[in-house]
Amino acid sequence: MLSQSHKQRYLRAINLPNVGEEGQLKLLGASVLIVGVGAIGSITSTYLTAVGVGRIGLIDFDTIDIEDLQHQVLYETSFLNRPKVRSAQAKLQRMNPDIVIEGYFQALDVRNALKIIQGYDFIIDTTSNLHTTFLVNQACVATNKPFSTAGYYQYQGQIMTHIPGSACFSCVFENLLPQELRRTIQSGVYGFSTGIVGSMQAGEAIKYFLHKDTPYLRDTLLVDCLGVFDTQNLYFNKLLARKNPSCPVCSKDSKQS
Ligand SMILES: [Zn+2]
Repeated sequence: MLSQSHKQRYLRAINLPNVGEEGQLKLLGASVLIVGVGAIGSITSTYLTAVGVGRIGLIDFDTIDIEDLQHQVLYETSFLNRPKVRSAQAKLQRMNPDIVIEGYFQALDVRNALKIIQGYDFIIDTTSNLHTTFLVNQACVATNKPFSTAGYYQYQGQIMTHIPGSACFSCVFENLLPQELRRTIQSGVYGFSTGIVGSMQAGEAIKYFLHKDTPYLRDTLLVDCLGVFDTQNLYFNKLLARKNPSCPVCSKDSKQS
């Protein structure tokens, strides 16, 4: 049962159709790992903290540069040169002292991915780094974890969510050209564009927890499709993403080998 203070704090969520006290309890009992607390992760982590996801892990190896402040809205000028993950952890914990915020000041890599990911119910990849995204995809499929991955380029963004049994990132993007893999994102960016992606990713995690045992789950998430949008020309489309029966990550064959 929700405590009286939780009933007051989360009242506006509880009043939503299909949420109620039962839905809020699901969120308070849930855990999410956010990979990267830059432009997208600033927003994702803020919304998940505010709604009361019970345990949130943040992993990032970077420190705060002056150029980050224009679009990574979790950070203040006085935070310059500090590790993003430590600053984010402290700020989010102040926002909501009810929940647990954990921080990992390190990169997610092949040595630690499985171990860290196994400790959370839902994974959010915000990195716009294809090497990391493929790693998150592989580790989540191997551990049967649902995840949402997103990226941006200038005014454009894309988002895709995977639940066990749906198309994975490799089903769709396995054949990317090597030059795409080498591309690092240093594009121009406005926070209002990356904020949309971060907000949608927070929504994917929240809806997953609210609906995971219901027939509506697939209808409410961006699974088996790719959400793409452009804030310059103002469009949002859902592109069908098919599961690849010979996917090297999620097909039956890959799991037998
Ligand atoms: Zn796949």
